[in-house]
Amino acid sequence: MSGIAWIETVRLDEQPNVLWVEVADEEGIAGLGETYYLPTAVEAVIHDMAAPLLLGRDASRIGAIAETLFACANFYGWAGAEMRAFSALDIALWDLQGKRTGLSVAELLGGRVRDEIRVYNTCVDAGGFDDQAAWLTRPGDLAEELLEVGIEAMKVWPWDRFAPQLQSELVTGPAGWSAMGPVGHDLTPESLAAGLHCIEEIRERVGSRMDVMIEGHSRWDLNAALRVCHALEPFEIAWVEDIVQPTSARDLARLVRETRVPQAVSERLIGRSAYREVLEAEAAHLVMVDVVWTGGLSEARKIADLADAYHLPVVPHDCVGPVALAASLQLCAYAPNVKVMETVRGFLSGWYRDAVTDVPAVTGGSIRISDRPGLGLELQPGLRDREGAVVRRSGR
Ligand SMILES: [Mg+2]
Repeated sequence: MSGIAWIETVRLDEQPNVLWVEVADEEGIAGLGETYYLPTAVEAVIHDMAAPLLLGRDASRIGAIAETLFACANFYGWAGAEMRAFSALDIALWDLQGKRTGLSVAELLGGRVRDEIRVYNTCVDAGGFDDQAAWLTRPGDLAEELLEVGIEAMKVWPWDRFAPQLQSELVTGPAGWSAMGPVGHDLTPESLAAGLHCIEEIRERVGSRMDVMIEGHSRWDLNAALRVCHALEPFEIAWVEDIVQPTSARDLARLVRETRVPQAVSERLIGRSAYREVLEAEAAHLVMVDVVWTGGLSEARKIADLADAYHLPVVPHDCVGPVALAASLQLCAYAPNVKVMETVRGFLSGWYRDAVTDVPAVTGGSIRISDRPGLGLELQPGLRDREGAVVRRSGR
């Protein structure tokens, strides 16, 4: 037994949505976790609620700690900053256990089924790539460029811009682009066609060589969502995700029943019981999971196993951060039913490298999965000393 000696959170001005957490044992071995969105709220949960429950406890009893944290969070609500905090702590505990034992997290989870996984590129502007501007204005060119570097799958969100937009003064500040407008109820035929043009051009240029995923960001009501899906049917896309809010398994099941476009559900479901509802309702073709939101690797592993029992693939989400990616990749190495891993090439070549010591390479459309102890990465030396860094410690 090695008790948890201290828990430290780190956030940076330059990444205003990200919170890192390190959990260290009495020997000074530290594991690294991460989550995304409202880091000051998550920081408060970690130090005010979780730390008093965790300090001194056996760091290797990851499942027992998860049970404790869930039970406490449930008493006052559900999801939100609590689950993001627990997700980050859980990932840090898995990393710590790996570093203590010399095993990768995938080996701790049950053993590796693969050493690399196919990726798709979520097409945002970042790290010197103008991928979002490109799919908006020249999607065929972008598809060709991605194929040239071996990436055969891309995600775009062609109908967001036609949904109601927030006034610009409401989308500044730490929440940044994560702030979305209200749900749209009026998708005009012109807007439907304009969004579809992106997919048409990709298919005209590169045929079926490119898999296309459609991100919905929950911007539309069910009627509009069904129209988008019907319009997409001839294009044999990989999936549509979150085009309506993922709050009702029954409504998501209508998308499955009434169109033949595959539905991915959902990076925003929290905890295995939410996935159970969706799977029992036959409301998903692909099970999307975000390890830093849904409850960490402990929860994500159970969700992957649950999806496997329904003969469905898992598609991990990462538009988040480098530790989320590293943890997701360990899930990919463990779970045979993982199909493809989300990546953002501008993050991999940009800010991820600035934040952590090891960012895996994408070659030939696949990403390598670390076999080093734990997650196989650390925060960059000196990151805590950067201007604007906020470091807070509980314990000694
Ligand atoms: Mg998404």
